[in-house]
Amino acid sequence: MPASSFSSTDPDWPIRQAAFQRLAELTRLHGGVLPWDKVAEGFSFRGEPLYFATKAEGIFRPRQMQGGALSIKTTVPRRGRIARYDDIASDDGAFFYRFKGEDPQNHSNQLLARAEALKAPLIYFYGVAPGMYRPIWPAYIARFEPQTLTCEVVADEALPVEPPGTALHDATADRIRRGYITVQAKKRIHQETFRLHVLDAYGCRCAICRLPRPELLQAAHILPDRDERGVPEVPNGLALCHLHHGAFDADLLGIRPDGHIELAPTLRETRDGPTLEHALKAFDGQPIIKPVRQDHWPREQFLEERYARFLQRAA
Ligand SMILES: [Zn+2]
Repeated sequence: MPASSFSSTDPDWPIRQAAFQRLAELTRLHGGVLPWDKVAEGFSFRGEPLYFATKAEGIFRPRQMQGGALSIKTTVPRRGRIARYDDIASDDGAFFYRFKGEDPQNHSNQLLARAEALKAPLIYFYGVAPGMYRPIWPAYIARFEPQTLTCEVVADEALPVEPPGTALHDATADRIRRGYITVQAKKRIHQETFRLHVLDAYGCRCAICRLPRPELLQAAHILPDRDERGVPEVPNGLALCHLHHGAFDADLLGIRPDGHIELAPTLRETRDGPTLEHALKAFDGQPIIKPVRQDHWPREQFLEERYARFLQRAA
């Protein structure tokens, strides 16, 4: 649909700003990945409560708005382990969002077309695990493609100072910057997805000390992430607390291919306070705690390769 059939300025600019402001607060409070119940809280505009998104709709515009969509959403189904990896695995500086149904003219898809025509900033709730979303905003519909029933979605770092359509801006600079920011957003999503899947496999505990606080846990790679945006493989990960992740990465602590912990000689020979004694030396020779599911266990071949590096560096 030609852009000229719409008014050139976004009629919903103040509502969008209120939504983005609330989203910034939510992510400050709860981190970059939000559980659905936080998204469902919505935001308020001039005292009236509005939704960011609904469970049922992938493409959403509150009834108080008149222009394009406020948000789009992709979901990881409960049973699906990892969804939409074709998308973040690509090198393109864009996400490819599938239309609703087969008719580009239906109401939902037209909300995408209008967002493109108005250059209206929106929110992409990207599902990284069942019920968990990383909001990406401001995002823009860069291309509405009825032939393939998809649109290209790009991310940006900040809102323009003036609403689109009123500011003089450099479209080429926008395109280049947004492509770059979108690739960064994909990398972040990949890392977050990997962390969520690894922590989940390990029951949210450190594989070495059993510390059960997700805030203090990280997903360590056994072998470096060779393709940063490839499918995150749980068997190449370990849930580790900050201390043990640091020790593992510095090769002060190794894991044998049979899953037993081995301290570097330099640590073993040192005598020091309770952290060294109880948080490190006490685990020397102990087995790591493995995930319940056997297909999530660290792959022996990965451990072997990593252990060889440990022996070399620890020597
Ligand atoms: Zn630990």
